[in-house]
Amino acid sequence: MPQELADTNAERFKALMPVLNSSNDFFIRTTDEQHMAKVQEVLQRVHDNGFVHRASTEGWYCPRCADFKGETEIADGNTCPIHEIPLTREQEENWFFQLSAFQERLEELLLEPNRTSFSPMRVATRPSASSSWVSRMSASAAAS
Ligand SMILES: [Zn+2]
Repeated sequence: MPQELADTNAERFKALMPVLNSSNDFFIRTTDEQHMAKVQEVLQRVHDNGFVHRASTEGWYCPRCADFKGETEIADGNTCPIHEIPLTREQEENWFFQLSAFQERLEELLLEPNRTSFSPMRVATRPSASSSWVSRMSASAAAS
């Protein structure tokens, strides 16, 4: 069913182009053979170069958010501040990307004064916020 929904929505997005008086060179989907092959190649290179590792993670989990909550995200009574329901203690195996290995280079790129292109747009408009985000994410990944 998720595939059917994605197929339906892809056609809706394609149909939007003339409505928006817009055009595109191509329409890519994550299910395209070329896209899947390229993603597989990149992820294999990341893996082969040792930038990912498999580890167990344990923490307080909100089933409605479908997310683990950090210490600052837990409301009184060990509840989810969004859904106001009790959090459950969960443990699962995941792959972790070693973002800290790229922290210095990413910060250099984000703070480069004459940079003319980079996406997403938020990164381009708020480089200092983006660079602190890299620091926070690296620290967070190192702690887990
Ligand atoms: Zn929640």
